[in-house]
Amino acid sequence: MRAITVVFISFLVVACATSPLGRQQLILFPEAQIAEMGATAFQEIQREKPTVGPGPTVSYVKCVADAITRQLPSSVPQQWQLSVFEDDEPNAFALPGGNLGVNTGILEIAENPSQLATVVAHEIAHVLAEHPNERVSTQYATQTGLDLLQAITGVGPERQELFALLGMGAQVGVILPFSRRQEQEADLYGLDLMAQAGFDPRESTRFWQHMESQGNGAPPEFLSTHPSGKTRMSDLQARIPAAMEIYQQARARGIRPDCQPPG
Ligand SMILES: [Zn+2]
Repeated sequence: MRAITVVFISFLVVACATSPLGRQQLILFPEAQIAEMGATAFQEIQREKPTVGPGPTVSYVKCVADAITRQLPSSVPQQWQLSVFEDDEPNAFALPGGNLGVNTGILEIAENPSQLATVVAHEIAHVLAEHPNERVSTQYATQTGLDLLQAITGVGPERQELFALLGMGAQVGVILPFSRRQEQEADLYGLDLMAQAGFDPRESTRFWQHMESQGNGAPPEFLSTHPSGKTRMSDLQARIPAAMEIYQQARARGIRPDCQPPG
């Protein structure tokens, strides 16, 4: 009886996590397992999509990404794999296990390193807040047909769905939006992450406004998987004074990334 109780309690401990903004989350999978799924998904997209080779474009994106990942807490991966994809669609994604994908189309929208840092930090924040694990866990717990073993080892629609749940939706043609709450967390936590890395948090609202005004009426893919609520800009604005303090402290400590946009 005692053994059963212990097992039950430890299951609850695993199952209930708290997000960076204090929200209760259903987390069923060990971090290592989710990280492995993320790595598998990333390897697959790297095989399928053309990537930009070494040069000024990759150096620029890497400079911004490294500046952010260097400041992450020691409990999370410090070594992130980066691929820059040859794709005009302004999109970016991060996957568990420290994998980051950025489309060249984002560089048309991000006018400076702080604006690029906005979307990179937002994507990394989704992973740090365990949104991929939460999404896979929720789907698994509600038993709506996601056979995980089949998803990982197979080739069918379940595999695409798993990849989408991990954060790679538009890239695999399955649109599974993050929830508004998850978006808000990624926005606000991302703002702190960029500020810690020495990027100006005031550029974040400018970047998102550019993103939303893109596409001649058809919103970019990014917005179909990252829905924004009416209060998005005001939530960000409200957080900027606190983020500015983090930014100024980082700058005072000598954290001043010098990333040169290509050409
Ligand atoms: Zn998002």
